[in-house]
Amino acid sequence: MAIPLLSIENLCARFNTVRGEARAVDHVSLDLAQGRTLAVVGESGCGKTALALAVMGLLRRPGEIVSGAVRFKGRNLLSLPKKERRALLGEHMAMVFQEPMTALNPVLTIGEQIAEIFRARRGASRAEARRRAQDMLTSVGFTDPAGRFAAYPHELSGGMRQRVMIAMALCLSPELLIADEPTTALDAAVQNQVLALMLSLARERRASVVLITHNLNMAAAHCDAAAVMYAGSVVEYADAATLFSRPAHPYTAGLLACLPKWGPGGVSREKLRPIPGTPPSMTALPSGCRFHPRCPKAFDACSRQTPPLLDLEKNRRARCLLYA
Ligand code: SF4
Repeated sequence: MAIPLLSIENLCARFNTVRGEARAVDHVSLDLAQGRTLAVVGESGCGKTALALAVMGLLRRPGEIVSGAVRFKGRNLLSLPKKERRALLGEHMAMVFQEPMTALNPVLTIGEQIAEIFRARRGASRAEARRRAQDMLTSVGFTDPAGRFAAYPHELSGGMRQRVMIAMALCLSPELLIADEPTTALDAAVQNQVLALMLSLARERRASVVLITHNLNMAAAHCDAAAVMYAGSVVEYADAATLFSRPAHPYTAGLLACLPKWGPGGVSREKLRPIPGTPPSMTALPSGCRFHPRCPKAFDACSRQTPPLLDLEKNRRARCLLYA
């Protein structure tokens, strides 16, 4: 059997806070094959970003990985020396962050920031790096790459800045791209455009993508598989078509019930049904199933027993006692 490009095995990461230990990533296991796109969805604060940072080796104190493995092409990244781990970033795995304004250097032009990658990592001359940076700007949709080369981040719109971030992430053709809410800071009108651009460039390069998002429509439209996280754990995993059409876990079903439905005459007038309550504090998780205080299907055992992640079908798992 082919080794997955990325294999996250029983990964646990925590944050030590004044209120106690927050188990932000709790025994998460996920695989991603080359060229595939995996969505990681869930409400804010469910551990999606901590998972992404842990995989990239960018989790900083008070956060730390406490156990598990992150294998990239079979090698456990957590046991690599720091220097080797750093060398993978950009070259083999890259990340697109949520807010491009804070990720870009405000005192360098966007062209200089892209060109610097080619100079530092490919040994390109100044002229060659400039040419390749302009090619990257063209590939992410800038019609005047020579002119835009000299623009500072604050001179661009949010959508343009995010396209620059995508160019920077993809310019060394990494095999793995992790995009953490890449369109959240953008206007609704350009969100799909930017996401579609990022995914098509990744596909051209045969890169695998982990798309962290709370936008279920985007995940359903663009991803091959999806994992739903709740309170630090994966509660459901399946191929995207199955998960979004036949959710097995009550939490997934609840998330989908919050979305407006489309019918022949436009958006349906059917009332949206929000999930009652709020996600638990990560420092004071409920006993048993962490979703039980909000679950419409909870029964006696749910507050006492911790559900394991159960195999329901091939490539389909859910963490719910209804299937035990
Ligand atoms: Fe709901 Fe119980 Fe399943 Fe948890 S284990 S999701 S509380 S039915």
